Amino acid sequence: MAETSNAQADIGVIGGSGFYSFLDDVTEITVKTPYGSPSDSIFVGEVADRRVAFLPRHGRRHHLPPHRINYRANLWALRSLGVRQVLGPCAVGGLRPEYGPGTLLVPDQLVDRTKSRVQTFFDGEPLPDGRVPNVVHLTFADPYCPAGRKAALAAARGRDWEPVDGGTMVVIEGPRFSTRAESRWHAEQGWAVVGMTGHPEAVLARELELCYTSIALVTDLDAGTEAGEAVSHGEVMRVFGENIGRLREVLFDTIRELPDGRGRDCLCTMAHDGWNLGIDLP
Ligand SMILES: [Zn+2]
Repeated sequence: MAETSNAQADIGVIGGSGFYSFLDDVTEITVKTPYGSPSDSIFVGEVADRRVAFLPRHGRRHHLPPHRINYRANLWALRSLGVRQVLGPCAVGGLRPEYGPGTLLVPDQLVDRTKSRVQTFFDGEPLPDGRVPNVVHLTFADPYCPAGRKAALAAARGRDWEPVDGGTMVVIEGPRFSTRAESRWHAEQGWAVVGMTGHPEAVLARELELCYTSIALVTDLDAGTEAGEAVSHGEVMRVFGENIGRLREVLFDTIRELPDGRGRDCLCTMAHDGWNLGIDLP
């Protein structure tokens, strides 16, 4: 087996510190990118003989609100460590009464309702070394990796946590939660869950030809779904805390189930076919 540097990883997990804090031999790495610094150091360790890079999306002190996260730096940094497959666990609100707190949903579609976020590497802005990325328009009809989704669904079932297979995640700007009118409108569109970080994380991963899989834990029923109640941050944190242990188990089993990155043959690996990017990826 080839020797692997402590700083190298195949799989990236963008989520809270609760996912890696119990691992032995975690190496903390500071990464700089042409787009600035990622949310925090990256913590590289081993899960099921796979090299995994963990990045706390909001910073380890949870000081970054969703609209202030440097999504480009986060994805670029992971790729520069060798990561080719990314898992994105996140907390979401349920838009249907049957998707109550504790529901695990592996979305297959997303709708972007964010407002202020840079959502491309190919914006014509020169990099610090002077090269200018070309304008490219990538296919994003299916935003998530089919192999990653399959692995996550199998992992959840293996832990007797029957997941919802598919559904649309609408991503709002935040940091506030939705009004009742917004929430009712989201539900009426047939969308399944609402979150604040799923975009542009997924599209930036696609722009770097990374596999990206969203694993959404419902922490509350959204404002328009549940008569009388409104979402509170305290309730979200409480439900997330209650489920972090089994979500970690599902994540680690998903890592076990993921195909070897070198043998990837999913649509994510063909994102750049036919395009001249103008820049080299890390
Ligand atoms: Zn893929």
